[in-house]
Amino acid sequence: MTSPAISAAQTAAPLLTMTAAFEGIEGAYSHAVLDAYAERRGVAFAPLGCPSYRAVAHAVLAGRADVGLLPIDNAIAGTIREGYDVLAEYDLDLLAEITWRMEHRVLGVPGATLEGLREIDSHPIVLAECGRFLGTLPDIRRVPVPDTGIAARDVAAANDPARGAIASAAAAARYGLVELASTIADHPDNFTRFVLFRAPNARGPAAEFEPAEAFADRKTSLLFSVQDAPGALGRCLSILGAHGLNVSKLDSKTRLGASKQYAFYADVDGDARDERFATALRELRAVTASLHVIGSYDASTAPPRVQRAPAIVVDDRPAVAPKPAKTPFPKVTRAHDGVRARVVVGDVVVGDGEFVVVGGPCSVESREQILATAQAVAAAGAVMLRGGAFKPRTSPYAFQGLGWEGVALLAEAGRSAGLPIVSEVMSVGQVERMAQSVDLLQIGARNMQNFDLLKAVGRAERPVLLKRGMAASIDELLAAAEYVLAEGNPNVILCERGIRTFETATRNTLDLSAIPVLRERTHLPVMVDPSHGVGVRRWIAPLCRAAKAVGAHGLLIEVHPNPVEALSDAEQALTFADFRTIMDELAGVPLVHDRA
Ligand code: PEP
Ligand code: MN
Repeated sequence: MTSPAISAAQTAAPLLTMTAAFEGIEGAYSHAVLDAYAERRGVAFAPLGCPSYRAVAHAVLAGRADVGLLPIDNAIAGTIREGYDVLAEYDLDLLAEITWRMEHRVLGVPGATLEGLREIDSHPIVLAECGRFLGTLPDIRRVPVPDTGIAARDVAAANDPARGAIASAAAAARYGLVELASTIADHPDNFTRFVLFRAPNARGPAAEFEPAEAFADRKTSLLFSVQDAPGALGRCLSILGAHGLNVSKLDSKTRLGASKQYAFYADVDGDARDERFATALRELRAVTASLHVIGSYDASTAPPRVQRAPAIVVDDRPAVAPKPAKTPFPKVTRAHDGVRARVVVGDVVVGDGEFVVVGGPCSVESREQILATAQAVAAAGAVMLRGGAFKPRTSPYAFQGLGWEGVALLAEAGRSAGLPIVSEVMSVGQVERMAQSVDLLQIGARNMQNFDLLKAVGRAERPVLLKRGMAASIDELLAAAEYVLAEGNPNVILCERGIRTFETATRNTLDLSAIPVLRERTHLPVMVDPSHGVGVRRWIAPLCRAAKAVGAHGLLIEVHPNPVEALSDAEQALTFADFRTIMDELAGVPLVHDRA
């Protein structure tokens, strides 16, 4: 994978701490990006907020910070010119590109309402990303401020219900604000690219970063200028193309002080140390007025994972009116506005117009097994890794799982493949420690009505995957979810995994009819586990396709390097090849969407 050397190897050792500079104050998006990146890489970043992009570079070059982070591009608003300018202007050693989904929220002080707002503060680029939404609020003044952390902090300090901020959920938590609206960006694929860098010849902890070995996992940013003449840019692009180099971004700007020249920022796949790349650069020098290699760095460790469906089916079933007095589960009941929960697991969003596939073995069995599976499922397009470490087995003599050792191996494998991880938590006493290691806490079918356990995960700061009990009705599943939400954890994903019926041909009866029912009755996302649902390898594929077609938000699938040897659920595990085939087939199944 494209990770710096600081990674999996560090699992058990104490975290290496480095100071990371970013623009803004705590609670800004850059801060959240640094936190997530540090967690993925097994390091710790002490945040150092800076007043400007240039100040971030200065902090790194002056040794006040080990690394720095700057945004360079947003999918909606476009190039963040100042980020490129600073990277080009200073002598910095670029380490990695990080792609981050910006999930903007309108925040206000407790008691504020969207209708009552008269002013919204945010970073100007963030305001631009939410242009359509803001257009529906014509009476609200948009106030640009230096960053979203500052917007949230100032709105909290003013304690004025007429003032709101657009910032992240993390900023809301940090400054005690409430969410007044979510999903407000012009498009859900609202990704921003950031670049992490250090000083050249860095000493100290930042020296530990090593570039990815494969040039294919690297990217290079260039700044070049050409005469303002026909064909000048075309010649440059032909040279790159002739050497098989893909240009993933190109942005022009007038070269200040040289009126007859145009400068371009270009991001090119590959590494400038690669011979092919070096040759192309030599040729490029001959046809450009100036050429500056800003740097080569690891290509995104968290690329936007979007599986496009060929067609869109509209789910036009009405949302159910909330009946707070009557329903036994008011918090999970889908409200009239029909807004869906988007459950964020690491860098993956479940319930948001993407179909999310989780792959991995029933049980973590060994380091080799889980590392190999992680690589295979990631390569096939899975966005999360599963693996049981505490196994609820019918017989006490059956393999019970590797326990905490299994959790550590799963975490290492997840990091190595760049995948968030999910694992089952079986008892209240395990919750806290499990929540520190995994991105998503699984409650197994046998524990769906372990109410103490539900309350415990309801207090945990991790999302929860709640599997339907094997003899549980849909109402009982919703009531179980209500336990988690009632304790303050809104991030629950439901999972249909088959129920017990009179049928014995299959392990369970996969109740696909529960999916449209649940979509109508709750705003929580719903996944399907066909592996436990049908229990027989060769019937998994058709049920995966069916689950997507009836509106599941994702799948949980058991995959093993050598299924027949699996220590648990050998009959239902898929080979890597089976899994790849299914992933390819799923791309052809339309995704069910809600009406906008
Ligand atoms: C599992 O996912 O490994 C598992 C034990 O599933 P369930 O709780 O649905 O039986
Ligand atoms: Mn299993």
